[in-house]
Amino acid sequence: MSVSTSAGTTPSVAASAGSAISLRGLSKHFGEVKAVDGVDLDIADGEFFSMLGPSGSGKTTVLRLIAGFEQATEGTIHLAGEDVTRRAPFDRDVNTVFQDYALFPHMSVLDNVAYGLRVRGVKKGPRRQQAEEALATVQLAHLGSRRPGQLSGGQRQRVALARSIVVRPKVLLLDEPLGALDLKLREQMQVELKQLQRDLGITFVFVTHDQEEALTLSDRVAVFSEGKIVQLGTPQEIYEQPASEYVASFVGTSNLFDGPTSARLLGRDGTHALRPEKISLRPAGSTASDDGTIRVEGVILESIYLGTGHRIHVRLNDGTQIVVLEQSTGGKADEQRGERIVACWSPDDLVPLT
Ligand code: ATP
Repeated sequence: MSVSTSAGTTPSVAASAGSAISLRGLSKHFGEVKAVDGVDLDIADGEFFSMLGPSGSGKTTVLRLIAGFEQATEGTIHLAGEDVTRRAPFDRDVNTVFQDYALFPHMSVLDNVAYGLRVRGVKKGPRRQQAEEALATVQLAHLGSRRPGQLSGGQRQRVALARSIVVRPKVLLLDEPLGALDLKLREQMQVELKQLQRDLGITFVFVTHDQEEALTLSDRVAVFSEGKIVQLGTPQEIYEQPASEYVASFVGTSNLFDGPTSARLLGRDGTHALRPEKISLRPAGSTASDDGTIRVEGVILESIYLGTGHRIHVRLNDGTQIVVLEQSTGGKADEQRGERIVACWSPDDLVPLT
């Protein structure tokens, strides 16, 4: 059977046998909209995999295709080596956690968690025991008799997770599961999610538009744009070697030097990215060392206190504006608005972009 390939990628090959999930030439069109456009992807067993991208880039649709809530327009989906492309959602060994939790309000927390087991015909005794174990895993053993309405947002989120893991899926699909939580709870749940995934050895496919969340949790990240994967790699690769201007500006903050600016400032051809934390500022007139460091004079436009450091906006002498991130060293920032400085960075930290 032939499968479609997107331009510029290598031809699709057979689904990878050792993968938890294999997508080949996967497309989903809604009328004129190509929500997913020729995605080839292998996700390994036990991997924490994130799909990252702006709103409308196709992440959720890929997840819904894997779960079976949408039918592919083209391409194939294999789970643990089996072709499930045309199978119904209940006939796929995956479970999904949505942002809105979807708990049953009239049932106790324990009954909510046990629900999937009841549907599968598990008897009352073992059902209760397994549900209690799953609740203990998310540290909510003591709240089994409450109703969902009597829990905090973070607790409800954990109940939703317990309900998904109790049926021991091989693959857990998570669609922005922490989106509704405040920052502190979100950070706490991130740690718990990561531990849970490690302990249970379940393959996690995590959809988020929060780049920091994707980078801190994942083994690998796929960056989406317009239904396509534009970069696939470890968090470090995505952050330190962004393949394009799009990835460099979507994942973290980057200073982007276009062609003419690169030629003028760096003596190089093509566009380059430079992370703000790779730049250091020295007082104007400080002596240059002989280690190949690039030095460009400029003036400080603004210094913003961040708690952990300062974000400093600098206008270089040629008019180019850059952002510099300085970690706090405990004392107050030396730089003041209007002060003349020299911005310094290593040529090795410049990332050429295509
Ligand atoms: P978000 O972060 O906002 O959830 P996303 O990256 O998950 O975005 P998708 O929800 O996959 O993006 O949507 C991809 C594209 O497909 C969007 O242009 C969206 O409007 C469109 N789309 C998604 N579902 C449907 C549908 N049922 N009918 C028509 N168009 C749809």
